[in-house]
Amino acid sequence: MATDEKIYQILSKFDQDKTRLMDILLSIHEDQGFVSADDMRKLSESLGISYAQVQETATFYHFFSNTPKGKYNIYLNNSITSVLKGRAAVKEAFEYYCGTAFGSVSEDGLFGLFDTSCIGMNDQEPAAIINDKIFTNLTPFRVKQLVDDMRKGLSAEELMYEDFGSGNNADPDIRAMVTNNIRKKSIILKKDYEPFSFLTSKLKTMSPEEVIAEIEASNLRGRGGAGFPTGLKWRFGRRTAGKHRVIICNADEGEPGTFKDRVLLTEYPELIFEGMVVAAYATGADIGLLYLRYEYKYLYHFLNRKLTEMRKKNFLGESIAGMDGFDFDIRIQLGAGAYVCGEESALIESLEGKRGEPRDKPPFPVEKGYLGYPTIVNNVETLATAVKILHHGAAWYSSFGTKDSLGTKLLSISGDCRFPGIYEVEWGTTLREIVAMSGAEDVQAIQVGGPSGMIIGMKDVNNMDNSELMKWYKPSGMMIAEKFFDRKLSYSDLPTGGSIMIFDNSRDLLSEVVMNFMNFFIEESCASCSTCRNIPLLMKNKLQKIIDGHGIRQDIYDLLNWGKILKASRCGLGQTAGNPILSSIFHFRHLYEQRIQSLTQFDSGFSLEKATEASRKYLNKKPVFHHF
Ligand code: SF4
Repeated sequence: MATDEKIYQILSKFDQDKTRLMDILLSIHEDQGFVSADDMRKLSESLGISYAQVQETATFYHFFSNTPKGKYNIYLNNSITSVLKGRAAVKEAFEYYCGTAFGSVSEDGLFGLFDTSCIGMNDQEPAAIINDKIFTNLTPFRVKQLVDDMRKGLSAEELMYEDFGSGNNADPDIRAMVTNNIRKKSIILKKDYEPFSFLTSKLKTMSPEEVIAEIEASNLRGRGGAGFPTGLKWRFGRRTAGKHRVIICNADEGEPGTFKDRVLLTEYPELIFEGMVVAAYATGADIGLLYLRYEYKYLYHFLNRKLTEMRKKNFLGESIAGMDGFDFDIRIQLGAGAYVCGEESALIESLEGKRGEPRDKPPFPVEKGYLGYPTIVNNVETLATAVKILHHGAAWYSSFGTKDSLGTKLLSISGDCRFPGIYEVEWGTTLREIVAMSGAEDVQAIQVGGPSGMIIGMKDVNNMDNSELMKWYKPSGMMIAEKFFDRKLSYSDLPTGGSIMIFDNSRDLLSEVVMNFMNFFIEESCASCSTCRNIPLLMKNKLQKIIDGHGIRQDIYDLLNWGKILKASRCGLGQTAGNPILSSIFHFRHLYEQRIQSLTQFDSGFSLEKATEASRKYLNKKPVFHHF
């Protein structure tokens, strides 16, 4: 429990502002590792909000705890790529050497072992976060070394005795053993641009309307995955009246398999921040917020230093770059671990100090967002791209990509390939080209767009159930079989936020990949909608039954129907939570058909005795079962 004095110090640092509750809770964690019930009571009294409001936030996020954890807290990524790259052996080694199981703290209080969702290191798995430091390419041998050193009392920083990673990862304010793995550069990643040169020259000759018109002419679409036209979003934001307007950079890169924003934040922070300043100029915003996922906390001081440098050069603050009346500044808000905060309204809730629960829409954030002000939320890559477009002009940008999908896209490629990393490709690139450039062989499937995507196979594409399914099924990405590798990345064919995961023929798509994706959605639901809270678990259990060989044809129909009900969920997480199963039924139907008992209509694997065992014990009753 924190002392009254400590709580007072922390509250004073944040002006007793209840909307800074995330920062207040993060500071208490920084100080003592957890936030107790007594701490929450003190916060509730001092901030003038209910205990329940404090508790809601303090219990929502993965990296918050209400009980003491270990001196060293180890969060091991459980995404599918980590699993494919040897997570099980690494997990076993941690449990063996730390003397405790995952999900618990060792008896001596030294080690806390926890699972966590994708930490944005898919190109260097298995990876873990130990006391906010990133450890990549783990092996059982390396785990033993780490645990030995922790037992000697070394700090997390001192555990990293290897060379630091590439590029800015060796910066004194980062010092991470993360490598960038930039494999292919094009118009965004080529370092042929002097940072802030657009801001200090051409921008001064353009009106806000002209800036928006240029972005509209480029047909730039949001790079987070949704693909909403950026110029239109800026126009809506500018049009909406408000005492303040807000630009948010969404750096909550949580979709499993994506890590391109990590690399942009590490190597191109000036481009991102310049994009925010330009967006502020265009929309008339005066408040800037960058929401940084907790997993990227190791970049926090580095990014803040960049902001300080910008203020010194008058690229932030009042009368930016000498333009009278153009006042704008940026604050970085750390998250605390919640995939759903990638959804823009959930992210805004989190920025206001609440649990990251998506809002009902309308109103949309451009009408009523952060603290009720018109708010424009843009992805990291979108903002970086906007600067390059404005610097060179929309006509130049239009010479890249395809007719309906202009420019380039940053891909995060991982899985079964020799060269995982970041590839900047023009829209229109085929999956076959991606296979070749990433050094993948014997490929069974490619997941485009993360777990919320879709699995495409070779069989059953004309199946009646499938055509019915496709009337309402709108995937945000796809898993694609070899037969379809000539398909092109583009908004008219394969739109994507950039996550590309490759699976070779040694992988069991249902028990390894689809199960992992379903566990992810179950873990990450904010549990507000009954559909999203319950149906993914039911679907997962039904899939397990099929994998175990007890499934019947009706189970496939049940899965299809339940997936349809999920579409009634409030946000994209719940709406797409059934996609791993639905899309695998659609495109890998044969994997289901091979496992079900096609000649029986009854579930031979169901045991009424077993299903009622717990309640029978509780009620102390012995019913008579009649077997047919
Ligand atoms: S769909 Fe799921 S994540 Fe989205 S609001 Fe509903 S419960 Fe929360």
